[in-house]
Amino acid sequence: MKRSTVVSGNWKMYKTVPEATQFVQDLAPLIKDSQVKVSIAVPFTAIFPASMEAKDSNLLIGAQNMHDASEGAFTGEIAASMLCDAGAKFVILGHSERRHVFNEDSHFVNRKIHAALTHGLNVTLCVGETESQHKDGQREVILKSQIEMSLEGITAEQMKTIILAYEPVWAIGTGNPASPEVAQETHKLCRQIITGLYGDEVANSLTIQYGGSVKPDNAKDLISMPDIDGMLIGGASLKADVFNQIIEACNVKEY
Ligand code: PEP
Repeated sequence: MKRSTVVSGNWKMYKTVPEATQFVQDLAPLIKDSQVKVSIAVPFTAIFPASMEAKDSNLLIGAQNMHDASEGAFTGEIAASMLCDAGAKFVILGHSERRHVFNEDSHFVNRKIHAALTHGLNVTLCVGETESQHKDGQREVILKSQIEMSLEGITAEQMKTIILAYEPVWAIGTGNPASPEVAQETHKLCRQIITGLYGDEVANSLTIQYGGSVKPDNAKDLISMPDIDGMLIGGASLKADVFNQIIEACNVKEY
């Protein structure tokens, strides 16, 4: 089955409402004929205005995190229904900054995935090993446990609305991306783990994004790898023209 190529931005804690709307105005015309699916996870405050601005475009707006509870006494948190209400179409879950800065584990990520899917939000599930785990040869064990725990109870049908993002922690924001060969080897490993859980059909139709210091000058080599189906981009997604150069580099993908 043909996989979708998806290029996503993750703005983290950057951009005010006027900056976000200006970005959408700048990017939307650039991607109007793009074969690649394009999305951006924006700060909570920008979801509603960015979604309104992106309404008639090819750009999907999403969120960077959420809580698994439907409502309640969780100061500072946000529920899936609230994200939908504001116009979010997807949510990033299990990002390494949530796992490592905010100590969120895969059980919590799993509960969030269930809640997001129940509310009709598509999910981008991030996984990836730290530098020391990488050096200690633990990559496979870590990825297997993150994927298996995060996806517990998720059906094959639900997998159609999930994107997996392999983001080695040592490559995020460091300017030191995984080489295309290492990224390919790891994406293949992730796909094998998915095959073990759901079989070949689900695994072969799953979009697996690479994330970690993607820039316009390395995107083409990364996307040319057979198991890399798109990018999840932090820093280089903050400027519309730079982000668009990566989208254009990914437009060449053929399966
Ligand atoms: C990210 O935040 O998911 C990310 C990949 O960041 P960067 O592209 O800046 O490495």
